[in-house]
Amino acid sequence: MVPRKKSPDYFDRSLETMPKGKRIETLTRKLREIVAHAYKHSISFQRKMKEAGCVPEDIQSIHDLEKLPITRREDLIESQKQLPPFGGFEAVKTGRMRRIYVSPGPIYEPGPWEYREIGWTQGLFAAGFRKGDIVQNTFNYHMWPFAFILDDSLKMIGCSVVPAGPGNSLVQLTIMRKLKVTGLVGTPSFLMTLAQRAESEGLRPQKDLFLKAAFVSAEMLPESMRSLLESKLGVRVSQAYGTVTTGCLAYECPKRGGMHLCDDVIVEIVDPDTGKKMADGSTGEIVATNFNKTYPMIRYATGDLSYFTGEVCACGRTAPKLGRILGRTDQVTKVKGTFIHPWQTDEIISKFPEVEKYQVVITRQGHMDQMTFKVELRDSSVNKDILRAKLQRAIKEILNVRGEVDFVVRGAIYERHKKIDDQRKWDN
Ligand SMILES: [Zn+2]
Repeated sequence: MVPRKKSPDYFDRSLETMPKGKRIETLTRKLREIVAHAYKHSISFQRKMKEAGCVPEDIQSIHDLEKLPITRREDLIESQKQLPPFGGFEAVKTGRMRRIYVSPGPIYEPGPWEYREIGWTQGLFAAGFRKGDIVQNTFNYHMWPFAFILDDSLKMIGCSVVPAGPGNSLVQLTIMRKLKVTGLVGTPSFLMTLAQRAESEGLRPQKDLFLKAAFVSAEMLPESMRSLLESKLGVRVSQAYGTVTTGCLAYECPKRGGMHLCDDVIVEIVDPDTGKKMADGSTGEIVATNFNKTYPMIRYATGDLSYFTGEVCACGRTAPKLGRILGRTDQVTKVKGTFIHPWQTDEIISKFPEVEKYQVVITRQGHMDQMTFKVELRDSSVNKDILRAKLQRAIKEILNVRGEVDFVVRGAIYERHKKIDDQRKWDN
């Protein structure tokens, strides 16, 4: 799809094309401010800092972030039991909370009086949303924050919003046609439901709908699904990544190939076990620090795995790019100091049609990790020596760790097996 003519390319050119040094300087200043603010006003953040033996003055640069403890969703749930309702992570009084949201957990999360974070807005703008657009927001407005946050973010661009929520696809299509809706916002799966319904109603997207841009989030968007959506809706479909607790963390530009970090957040890729930063390009857990004065989240661990692409983007934005989300930390295993994820092992095996089923077994011999791919073959007459050598090469290439291959008889791997079976024992 071609972006609309005469549109500026950036929501905020000076922020989005800022030189690297100036970006770090700006983020450092905001970091010092938010740490000082949270230490003063958030009981739980102050407690966590004291436990780590830190005072705000210890945080002088982005590198100092490693001194601060990680906060996880479980910490929020636990704190809210101890200090109801907000767990002491809130940094303003109740009268300064515009909305109070309820997320599964349940977690009670306060929203600011004036929503000013620009992350989602940057994502929507890069997706092609412009002033004057009429946008149908199909995220759920019931208790959860996300629909409201996008609503506020669309206001910053100057879009009119139809607060549709999910469901009622036929009614939604009628609204889209009557109001000549130009922008669509929702989960990939709900947009697919709408697109399929439009198709079954005999609607032709180019003639009967008026869409110019679509924006999705909150779910994975496989490329195959994206191209199907784009062909059915007749419009470019872009995505952004974030959490309701931290806000938007990264968004796609028209060049795609990853997502630029938003300008009002610090994103780290860390080792989920130690909280230490990973080397650039390595896969690790996404940890975010926002500058939300109502509900500051400092080093909030998302549980999602990704990496920095290291790419200089042709779109002109200078913010680093996150690669795609590779999965969740609870599915990851560390072998010889390297993270191994089921997504990667699937990728290896997908290159070998001879393989019927596989399982990776991690054991420990002496003080060394051993990784073995147990493999069932479709046809046991293949040359196993050649196949073994090819598999071992692919394992080393993709995982960067050496692995053995053990051909087993059909049926040896249980039907409902764990893809990576970690049999190491650490207690002796
Ligand atoms: Zn770009």
